[in-house]
Amino acid sequence: MKKTLIAAIAALSFIAIATIVLAWGFWVHQRINRVAIFTLPPQMLALYKPNIEYITSHSVDPDKRRYSNPHEAPRHYIDLDRYGKSPFDSLPRRWDEAVAKYSQDSLNAHGIVPWYVQLILYRLTEAFKQKDKYKILHYSADIGHYIADAHVPLHCTKNYNGQLTNQVGIHGFWESRIPELFGEDYDYFIGKAEYIEDPSDFIWKIVLESFSQVDSVLLMEKELSVQFPADNKYSFEQRGEISVRTYSREFSAAYQRKLNDMQERKMRHAIISVGSFWYTAWINAGKPDLSDVTDSPVSANDQEELEAMDKAWRDGKIQGRAHDE
Ligand SMILES: [Zn+2]
Repeated sequence: MKKTLIAAIAALSFIAIATIVLAWGFWVHQRINRVAIFTLPPQMLALYKPNIEYITSHSVDPDKRRYSNPHEAPRHYIDLDRYGKSPFDSLPRRWDEAVAKYSQDSLNAHGIVPWYVQLILYRLTEAFKQKDKYKILHYSADIGHYIADAHVPLHCTKNYNGQLTNQVGIHGFWESRIPELFGEDYDYFIGKAEYIEDPSDFIWKIVLESFSQVDSVLLMEKELSVQFPADNKYSFEQRGEISVRTYSREFSAAYQRKLNDMQERKMRHAIISVGSFWYTAWINAGKPDLSDVTDSPVSANDQEELEAMDKAWRDGKIQGRAHDE
């Protein structure tokens, strides 16, 4: 009896922690999509501003979709270090050439984010051409998520959660805990969206830069851990009924300082990149007038998919790699 009770409580705590971890990641995606709207020219704001809540809340759909769609997980990352040494010249930047060289299965196994961003850019451009309101908003929210993920160093390495260097937990620490603690004070004044001449080159530069920061992300945490006794590195925080062990505020602040505010710099770059991708799709579609796009009914298929995604996410067993595994 007692054992069952303990097991039940343990299971409940696990669910609560998992939800909290996701919710922290959610905060960053929502903030990036939301602020990106303010980088747009007035002709685009005519559509984006009245739909700011949609663009914000649906920024996390791709993460929710990982619960309902087994193909979703690899779209969020790329393990570049599976392909030799930086700058990974042997890895073709073009999708068809990469498939010919490595096969689609093997590319999927190591993540496909830079290619997937380009696919969604194409779909978004088509949606602008058709002036299809639902699709414009849907793909805008989606591409914002994938571009943001490409900015996270630990989304670009096979050691994505420090599991190869005895630093398990660092993924959520870097991308969720730090911005959740300090993100309200970041400077989000970022300027105007710019036209991207070569989207492939642009997104590849982003993942290569993210990869180049993996070493510091890991090393700084290691160095700091030596200076912090374990009971200062971690602290317990009350989340509802449950006490959760997490990285302490002091350790988090020290890590952010040592990384020279990397999370803030990366969030700022993600925001301007998201705005610039939206802007580029609109320009390439011939700058359609967005002031008169009317509400298009969501198709039965799309509606069904949305509901299935939400249900699977609430019931929650993730398919493929989780961010915080
Ligand atoms: Zn993601």
